[in-house]
Amino acid sequence: MFENLSPPPADSLMEVGRMFRADDREAKIDLGVGTYRNGEGRIEVMTAVKEAERRLLESQTGKGYIGPGGDALFCDLLANTLFPDLGVLAERQMALVQTPGGTGAYRLGLELAALRFPSARLIVGTPTWPNHIPTAERVGLRCVTYRHYDSASGAVDFGAMLAAVAHARPGDLFLLHGCCHNPTGAILSPPQWGALAAALLEARLVPVVDLAYAGMASGLTADSQATRQLIEVLPEAIIAISCSKSFGLYSERTGMLAVRATSTALADACRQTAESLARSLWSNPPDHGAAIVRTILSDADLSSAWRAELHAMRKRLAGVRALLAGSGYPGADRLSAQEGLFAMLTLSPAAIGAMREHHAIYMDPSGRINIAGLNDHNIGRFLAAVRTVSPA
Ligand code: PLP
Repeated sequence: MFENLSPPPADSLMEVGRMFRADDREAKIDLGVGTYRNGEGRIEVMTAVKEAERRLLESQTGKGYIGPGGDALFCDLLANTLFPDLGVLAERQMALVQTPGGTGAYRLGLELAALRFPSARLIVGTPTWPNHIPTAERVGLRCVTYRHYDSASGAVDFGAMLAAVAHARPGDLFLLHGCCHNPTGAILSPPQWGALAAALLEARLVPVVDLAYAGMASGLTADSQATRQLIEVLPEAIIAISCSKSFGLYSERTGMLAVRATSTALADACRQTAESLARSLWSNPPDHGAAIVRTILSDADLSSAWRAELHAMRKRLAGVRALLAGSGYPGADRLSAQEGLFAMLTLSPAAIGAMREHHAIYMDPSGRINIAGLNDHNIGRFLAAVRTVSPA
């Protein structure tokens, strides 16, 4: 039965992780996988999360199924935290479904879209998160790519983006990163978001927004602003939200699908359909992460403690980014116009190999680095290594 299976191509980032773990040099630096690390290089549990877990441990009386739609209070609190006072939320024109992480939200949103409109195509700017295209293809959607990133300028190729909108067919899906673009960090300006929303409306496209890094760039509501604008301008939108980064809940698989529809009845239909799709995908989402988020967001003190921690994370990232941008490395100054965890270095494959072999510094073969892997203890060594492998 399995004779015809051939192993899938190796995921470059997983391979980087494997090589990093196998390296026994003490001063090795991991700039690969996209997790936030603190100033000591550790993935820590946020204090607000620890406190919420303590409360849950005391109060939880059972571990029954929570249903395919998940925890409705978690969904409401999360949606209202990201999009406070959003009219269509109050008018119940958004379907909210808890999912296993942002990945589950993205998959479920595409399943729903494919069910509604099987011939829709997903228009994707490249490079993008490595899971975006394979997931769409697994759902049966054809992907059409365009150039998102102009590597010469380090900015979004906005002309290519608008041309992709113009070439799409009504009903096609248009993938966007709500903030902190992965892997490039390159973002649209507010006027560009406005122009894009108008173009999507005119072309009758449905945005699929991947909002995985809210709070990691300029603040929770600021980072959700572009997504909010799309929800306000367009009659339909699919939003995949992850709590992995903003709450540091990577292993708890916590996320939410939000679907904007044109009426309460249609939003209800979307929710019911998404729940029935979820039933056959994972039956029920895991409870613990969403219970943590619900506990935090329903308590004013815990909520402000969590916001303060998120603020400190954001400030640390901005500090590292500013140090890199001012380092004098060719092209580094463009980093100050970008945001989030990621940046693309303009290093050759040979230089990336030399960083690994001679300096124990690991990054994706594309040159993407997770800047959260840098801190006061290792950034000097990182910059010295960059200068050695790629002299100006
Ligand atoms: N979308 C993007 C752009 C990501 O970078 C990630 C995780 O790295 C995700 C979605 C998935 O997040 P989750 O771990 O919550 O599934």
